[in-house]
Amino acid sequence: MDTIFALATANGKAGVAVVRVSGPDAFSAAEALAGDIPAPRRAALRKLRDPSGAVLDEALVLCFASGASFTGEPVVEFHLHGSVAILRSVLRVLADLPGFRMADPGEFTRRALDHDRLDLTQVEALADLIEAETESQRVLAMTVFSGALGRMVEDWRAELIAAASLLEVTIDFADEEVPVDVSDDVRAGLLRVRADLDRQLSGMSAAERIRSGFEVAIVGRPNVGKSSLLNALAGRDAAITSEHAGTTRDVIEVRMEIVGLPVTLLDTAGLREAEDPVERLGIARARDRADTADLRVFLLAEGDEPELEVRPGDLIRQSKADLSGDPQAISSLTGQGIEQLLTDLGTTLSERVQRSSLATRERHRVAFLEGRDCLDAALRLLDLGPERYDVASEEVRVAIRRLEALIGRVDVENLLDHIFASFCLGK
Ligand code: GDP
Repeated sequence: MDTIFALATANGKAGVAVVRVSGPDAFSAAEALAGDIPAPRRAALRKLRDPSGAVLDEALVLCFASGASFTGEPVVEFHLHGSVAILRSVLRVLADLPGFRMADPGEFTRRALDHDRLDLTQVEALADLIEAETESQRVLAMTVFSGALGRMVEDWRAELIAAASLLEVTIDFADEEVPVDVSDDVRAGLLRVRADLDRQLSGMSAAERIRSGFEVAIVGRPNVGKSSLLNALAGRDAAITSEHAGTTRDVIEVRMEIVGLPVTLLDTAGLREAEDPVERLGIARARDRADTADLRVFLLAEGDEPELEVRPGDLIRQSKADLSGDPQAISSLTGQGIEQLLTDLGTTLSERVQRSSLATRERHRVAFLEGRDCLDAALRLLDLGPERYDVASEEVRVAIRRLEALIGRVDVENLLDHIFASFCLGK
């Protein structure tokens, strides 16, 4: 197997840049560059030299032995001064070593998966962790990265194997008149796993929102102050405000963080009967987006009624409090009620993520659904009596395989390229 290397930190000038090397010859590469290398997990300062003996940099060298590294292979990290010229020269020396090549994106992590250092859910979580921009994203990704979803799948697997084994023992000893009725035990086990799967499935949309963000649409008639509110909430001039009705023809999006949750605020075209075909298109789009958004903030002028259906959790506010003097209304001009509106948004969204599951991806949903279908089939067969136990046990086995695919034990080769494509170089 090749020994791979790559810059593990971001490109460009920096205080420190880390080059990571992984593979059977990683330690000999360290010796070639640094001479005598420190014991594993001991950082030591070394002069790095090219084959002619010229000093390239003075760097920290850190070695990890096979089986005790991120990839599971011998790994060496060079903590270099973060200069483009130093990096180029060190990478060139590494590239010239026989059996060495630059790593593909995500290849270190792929090797970690191959060596069972991580399961597939952890690999996905690592990608999410690197992408995480908000506190809630970091917490969810970290929980899954620490193996929580994998452990849950292992528990289900153990429970289902026990159930299938009970059924199979009954089949094997059917002729010997073993007078044990296993159906209650098996049913209890299957129902326990089924309940867990249900819980995870129902918390998935919250988990997906943590990962990809909530959409909050600001809706109301033209000129009521939607764009101004978006700017006030986001704290910058993201949408154009104007005194002419119908300026916001399309949907303007601003990404922000509210109580640690990723939120995309949508400023939608003012809802009104429009003549202009372009504006009509904007209004149709506004209605669609407002309809599919997780939450709507209805902004009303005095005497207005919401033009769309108000759903639980939606917020309704009167605008331009500075003109009306209404203490309950909000004003983007003076800031009245804006903080409270943010707090109310945060409270509503936090309630929605409270029962978040650990599963965030479509792949997880499919595995859960398929697993649950198999368990339902097995439970129905169980009710038909011992002569159907063989088919019931096969259904349980299929459920186990579906769940195993989740952590990458089986049937995942075709998935890997897709998953690793999203990784950056050096990870
Ligand atoms: P939109 O069409 O609903 O997006 O409305 P805009 O945000 O473009 O605002 C329409 C007009 O109302 C602009 O002239 C804004 O300056 C004004 N406006 C918006 N919010 C307030 C407010 O809180 N108080 C006052 N006095 N004027 C506002």
